[in-house]
Amino acid sequence: MQGIEKRVLIAGAGPVGLVAAVSLLEEGIPVTVLEASADLAVDLRASTFHPPTLDFLDRLGLADGLIARGIKCPLWQFRDRKEGEIATFDLGLLADVTDHPYRLQAEQWKLTEAARARLEAEPDARLITDITVEEVSQDSDSVTVKARRENGEVETFRAAYLIGADGARSTVRKSTGVAFPGLTIPEIFLSLSTPFRYDQAIEGLADISYISDPDEWLVLLRTPTLWRVLFPTDPNLSDEEILDPARIEERMQSLLPGEPYEIAHKTAYRVHERVAEAYVHGRIFLAGDAAHLNNPLGGMGMNGGIHDAVNLSEKLAQVWRGADPTLMGRYERQRRKVAIETVQAQALRNRALLNETDPAKRRAFHDELRATVADPVKHRAYVMKSSMIQSLRDLDEVA
Ligand SMILES: Cc1cc2nc3c(=O)[nH]c(=O)nc-3n(C[C@H](O)[C@H](O)[C@H](O)COP(=O)(O)OP(=O)(O)OC[C@H]3O[C@@H](n4cnc5c(N)ncnc54)[C@H](O)[C@@H]3O)c2cc1C
Repeated sequence: MQGIEKRVLIAGAGPVGLVAAVSLLEEGIPVTVLEASADLAVDLRASTFHPPTLDFLDRLGLADGLIARGIKCPLWQFRDRKEGEIATFDLGLLADVTDHPYRLQAEQWKLTEAARARLEAEPDARLITDITVEEVSQDSDSVTVKARRENGEVETFRAAYLIGADGARSTVRKSTGVAFPGLTIPEIFLSLSTPFRYDQAIEGLADISYISDPDEWLVLLRTPTLWRVLFPTDPNLSDEEILDPARIEERMQSLLPGEPYEIAHKTAYRVHERVAEAYVHGRIFLAGDAAHLNNPLGGMGMNGGIHDAVNLSEKLAQVWRGADPTLMGRYERQRRKVAIETVQAQALRNRALLNETDPAKRRAFHDELRATVADPVKHRAYVMKSSMIQSLRDLDEVA
C-alpha cells in the first residue's frame, strides 16, 4: 500500500479520462490513470468532434494532429428517404465564435492515441494498463482505490481525488452508490461500415446525414476511410439474426440497390438515456459515460464527456490551489443540466424527428427545418445549439 500521493487518480483511459488527465497536467497536477484493458480501445465508436470540443482540444495541444487525420465537414443534413434533402445546416455561420467552424469526422481512438503520447512525455503522468478498479472508498483527506492487475495481484492506491471516467458500467459510480436513472431505447442500433462511396452515389449528400423515414430511418456518416450506416433494428431479433450477412445485404440493397456491399465492420448495440443523480461524491467525481448516456443521434456523447473533463479539471485545479471545495458542486450543477437539458433533450428530439410516422407531423417537422435554414437568424441559433456551443455559453447562468 502506498502513502497518500499528492495526485489525482483517474479510472479509465477513454477519451474523457485522458482529456481530464492532459487538462490536469496542463495545470501542473500529477495524475495516475488506471485502465482495465491491455491497450487503448481502437473500436469504431464516436466519429464526430463538434467545434467547441476542437477549440478545447486545441488549447491542450491535441487538435492539430487529430484534424490532420480527419475530415472537416462544415455541412450536415436532414434528409428524407423518399424526398431527399430537407435542410442543409452550415457550421460556417459560426466562424466568428469558434476557430473550428465544422464537425471533424475522425475516430475517437485517434484522440486517445494522441493523449496517451502526451502522457508518456510527461514525468508527472502515469498510465497503468491491465489494471481494473474494483473498490473505492474515501475519508476526509484522501481516496483509496483497490485495483486488480491482470495476474490477480491487488494493488491499493491512495490519492487526493479520483475521477471516475470508467464508462457506462462505471465501477466508480456503482461504488459510490449513486443512482443512474433513465431508460433503455426499445430499438437496437446496428452500425455498419463500408468502403462504398455514398458521396459519389447520392447527389448532394453531405458527409453527415440524418435520414428520416416512417419505416426505417438511418444515419449516413463519412469517416476518413469508410462510410458508416446506422439503422434501428427490431429488438426481438437475436444478435445472430441482426448481424446475419444476408439480412444486412438486403437492408443495404433496399437503401441503395447495386453491387453487393463490402461490410468492413458491423456492430449492434443497445442505447440508454441515463444521467447519474450526482456527479460529485466528496473527493470522487464522475465524468463522461460514467455520468451520462444518450443515443448517438447528434454525436454528443463523447463531446459532452470531453466538455465535462475540461470543466471538472478547471475547477479541481482551483480547489487544488486552495479554493473552497464546494466549487465542485458547480461542476455537477452545470454539467448535469447540460446532460439533461441539452444532450438528452436534443438526442431524443433527433430520434423523434427521424422516426415520426404521422404524415402531418412529418410534414410539419420538415417545413420547420426548411424554414429554419431559410432564415439566417434561426439557422445560426440552430447550429449554435447543435454544435454544443450554446450549451457552453449557458453555463454562466448556472450558479
Ligand atoms: C457505435 C457508437 C457510436 C458513437 N458515436 C458517437 C459520436 O459520433 N459522437 C459522440 O460524441 N459520441 C459517440 N458515441 C459515444 C462515445 O463513444 C462515448 O460517449 C465515449 O466513448 C465516452 O467516453 P468515456 O471516456 O466516458 O468512456 P469509454 O470510452 O467507455 O472509456 C472508458 C474506459 O474505462 C475503462 N474501464 C472500464 N471499467 C474500468 C475499471 N473498472 N477500471 C479501469 N478501467 C476501466 C474502459 O476499458 C475504457 O477504456 C458513440 C458510441 C457508440 C457505441
